[in-house]
Amino acid sequence: MSLIEIRGVSLQYDSLPVIKNVSVEVEQGEFFVIIGPNGAGKTTLLKALAGLHPLFAGEIQIRQRLIGDYSRKELARTLALVPQQINADFPFTVVETVLMGRYPHLGLLAVEGKKDLQLAEQAMEFTEIAHLAGRRLGQLSGGERQRVIIARAVCQQSKILLLDEPTASLDPAHQLRIMDLMERLRHREEITIIMVSHDLNLASTYADRLLLLKDGAVEKIGTPRQVLTRELLSQSYGCTLLVDENPLLGTPRVSLVSEKVASTISNEQGHL
Ligand code: ADP
Repeated sequence: MSLIEIRGVSLQYDSLPVIKNVSVEVEQGEFFVIIGPNGAGKTTLLKALAGLHPLFAGEIQIRQRLIGDYSRKELARTLALVPQQINADFPFTVVETVLMGRYPHLGLLAVEGKKDLQLAEQAMEFTEIAHLAGRRLGQLSGGERQRVIIARAVCQQSKILLLDEPTASLDPAHQLRIMDLMERLRHREEITIIMVSHDLNLASTYADRLLLLKDGAVEKIGTPRQVLTRELLSQSYGCTLLVDENPLLGTPRVSLVSEKVASTISNEQGHL
């Protein structure tokens, strides 16, 4: 049995269909990346997985239990969402923010104890933000803020991590740090990672499987090699992309091709 089962899910905003009959299963410990053009419905699907968007049709089960049957706290102990936008005006310090990850584990009106603080410290060390503990979120760079929110998710000790473009607007070194952190989490804590990403090469390097969404529907589900093909990508994104092999890893490597280059080369070499 899969850890997460999404069956025939359709989602709407008002009466506008955004996700159409999507079915996919995610296994425990999998690194699963959702890709697709802007507006394809990736964020909406991730929100539905986090129980933050009502289902119009179909069902989502986690550990064979409908997410609608989980209480908010139970769901928060089961999964943690790292959203795309993080409010820089959040009036809390780093350690206070990370400690919020403990709320789903506290009783009514309970305050955090020594163990919670220890877990927050561990999460900050793991995400390399311990030195920022006393700073407010507004005093951090985008990449640091991103790591604080990931630390909060780690501190939450949920076995499923949902991330919405965690590497957007980060420089290559910080992108790698976030992705390597995810890898470590997966191996050390057996955490299942579901990530929305626009970075096809990061997806190719780290994902076990990809879901390619287009216009709210499944275009393809499979390994990076199965999904990251020139035909599928060019068709889905509506532009010319070159797919060859990463010489170091053997994984698909995706390069952008300008219209001008595409029109001159495609006829001559036929490999674009
Ligand atoms: P993606 O993450 O793939 O870019 P989204 O899930 O954010 O796509 O959006 C899917 C579609 O739903 C888009 O057409 C978008 O305009 C629409 N949409 C997103 N959020 C809302 C909202 N709050 N109200 C109405 N429509 C929305």
